[in-house]
Amino acid sequence: MQLNDLFPNVKFDEPMKNHISFKVGGKADIFFEPSSIRELIEFIKYVKENNIPHIIMGNGTNMLVSDDGVRGAVVKLGPKLSSIEVIDDSIIAQCGAILLEVSKIAAANSLTGLEFASGIPGSIGGAITMNAGAYGKEMKDVLEEVEVLDSNLEYKVLQNKEMEFGYRKSAVEKNNYIVLGAKLKLMKGNKADIKALMEEYDERRRSKQPLELPSAGSVFKRPEGYYAGKLIEEAGLRGMTIGGAQVSEKHCGFIVNKGDATAGDIYNLIKHIQKNIYERFGVKLETEVKLIGKFE
Ligand SMILES: Cc1cc2nc3c(=O)[nH]c(=O)nc-3n(C[C@H](O)[C@H](O)[C@H](O)COP(=O)(O)OP(=O)(O)OC[C@H]3O[C@@H](n4cnc5c(N)ncnc54)[C@H](O)[C@@H]3O)c2cc1C
Repeated sequence: MQLNDLFPNVKFDEPMKNHISFKVGGKADIFFEPSSIRELIEFIKYVKENNIPHIIMGNGTNMLVSDDGVRGAVVKLGPKLSSIEVIDDSIIAQCGAILLEVSKIAAANSLTGLEFASGIPGSIGGAITMNAGAYGKEMKDVLEEVEVLDSNLEYKVLQNKEMEFGYRKSAVEKNNYIVLGAKLKLMKGNKADIKALMEEYDERRRSKQPLELPSAGSVFKRPEGYYAGKLIEEAGLRGMTIGGAQVSEKHCGFIVNKGDATAGDIYNLIKHIQKNIYERFGVKLETEVKLIGKFE
């Protein structure tokens, strides 16, 4: 059977710039967005049996896809798998639910703990994989358990401590897990206070981050003892441009797409910054953004 007979919604030669927040990148040979966990499992079984390489994506807000695109399949766990349910002080959310939505629902139910995440544009699956965080809190602080498929496609429920959370990392990548969903443990709070804190964080983001231009948030991880953005600023790289890619004027830790950037422009700017910062300060900047496809 052909792939599109088995999975009628599969797309071929899908432009990845339509799916990642940088709005750049070439085509994915195969692109599939499952609408059920069963369909996800069937699809992964098919690609494995046919030796087709595959990657998982959520909302594409922490990815740079190369101009050559992606050979094999991209599996997007997005809006079709995004249910959110509130049970007492907990929220059960599927992998494709967007953090903003989950935090809005938490606020509407007077649940506190997730305010920090309300401006992170990722999915639950991506945020758990990355242990996304802001304002001194991370996903690990609110997660009780995580539902995953392991590399043999076996369903598992992992407790917080089994997820090996670290700074912008978790056991997901190391073990090739697919995150299906999670149970978040929050606390009863005051609705007005929760909303006020979310608004304060939102205002801080809008004043400090270039939200009006495509980006993937902070490009680099925070090097120990430093701030990437501050080093980049001190090196005089604020506003530096390669093609359509620019070190944000507003926040030096961000690279923005001025409109006509290619993935190559962004990659070359990343390399330039890394080299410059290493030569000047002896600090190695590691990318937080995931590089997908061929770059050199
Ligand atoms: C304007 C802006 C602001 C941002 N601010 C922050 C911030 O404050 N803090 C922060 O930590 N990040 C921030 N980010 C980065 C990004 O939003 C987070 O890293 C987010 O958690 C990524 O989620 P995603 O669904 O977009 O993941 P994607 O970019 O789609 O994927 C990221 C990684 O997770 C993997 N992945 C995604 N879903 C799954 C799944 N279900 N199962 C297994 N693996 C999966 C992918 O394979 C990839 O390796 C920001 C980004 C932007 C554009």
